[in-house]
Amino acid sequence: MPKLIDKFGREINYLRISITEHCNYRCFYCRDDEHTPNCKREDILSYEDIQRIVRLFAELGISKVRLTGGEPLLRRGIVKIARLISSIDGIKDVPLSTNAHLLEKFAPKLHENGINRVNISIDSLMPNRFKEITRGGDVNEVIKGIDAAIASGMHPIKINMVVMRGNNDNEIESMIDFAIEKGIDVRFIETMPIGSAGIDATSLHYSEKDILARVTQHLKNKITPLTSSKTDGPAKNFKINNTQSSVGVISAVSNHFCQTCNRIRLTAKGDLILCLGQEDAISLKDAVRSDLTDDEIKTMIVEAINKKPEKHEFNSSIDNISNRQMAEIGG
Ligand code: SAM
Repeated sequence: MPKLIDKFGREINYLRISITEHCNYRCFYCRDDEHTPNCKREDILSYEDIQRIVRLFAELGISKVRLTGGEPLLRRGIVKIARLISSIDGIKDVPLSTNAHLLEKFAPKLHENGINRVNISIDSLMPNRFKEITRGGDVNEVIKGIDAAIASGMHPIKINMVVMRGNNDNEIESMIDFAIEKGIDVRFIETMPIGSAGIDATSLHYSEKDILARVTQHLKNKITPLTSSKTDGPAKNFKINNTQSSVGVISAVSNHFCQTCNRIRLTAKGDLILCLGQEDAISLKDAVRSDLTDDEIKTMIVEAINKKPEKHEFNSSIDNISNRQMAEIGG
């Protein structure tokens, strides 16, 4: 099997696809209140476009494809997309990132059609606070979605909480207890300066160090570090002893993990993004809709991977940070 290796020697085997820019939540740190996606149907990758692009990536060694958004469950045909992707030769892992508002309805069908595991965003367990953060969301629907994912047999199930100082940071402990009670994993995420909403939210930044101090204080000596593998993603993870759960921190800002970055991103409009924090992109939509052959498109991809930057610039210069909204990139 060929491999996609960039000029820093990193093997790229993980593609994240945002399948829609639309979201039913409007988390204040993720998108500007007035931002409404403005795209016509033909601007968005079709099923056939997605299938061909993923097949070409699989032929180049990509084995993991995450569906994200916007909110992926809003994309009509999500179950079909899951089925098409998971049946491509070489694709072994098809996780989903969702806010779970609609997951109760979709979880069984998605699992039957190849979604083996799910990450669910939940920033508060308090209905009013949740509603404020998401500008209108309903945490009870999300909890029903989590229960449905558990019942469907997807595994592992991770809940992700963006920790914000003076906003929801007093819920770190209750989120851990919630995860233990449900038998699922929890990850705490630092706010990232992506898009104008993300840049505004950096004033609420809560560091990895502070999160870990709270986690260890709460769980005392009842945690065991988990050795991270490349496929685990960037969390610092700990098994919570005598439970089914683990806890971790994703700290893209305090402690970037660019040296082990194995991922690339595809937007709903078909732009291949090489680094979460940077603007550079090439249009794979134009490529698959032109008369380029499969081999010519694969050559384009290999050349693009060669331009993957060494690291993001979250900590150095705000000028070099992507202006794209996180909802467009998919997280
Ligand atoms: N709608 C899906 C969801 O809620 O998971 C998928 C898309 S959402 C953009 C993916 C993840 O990005 C969510 O966990 C969200 O909390 C996170 N996110 C968005 N903006 C962020 C920011 N500025 N800093 C850190 N995480 C962010």
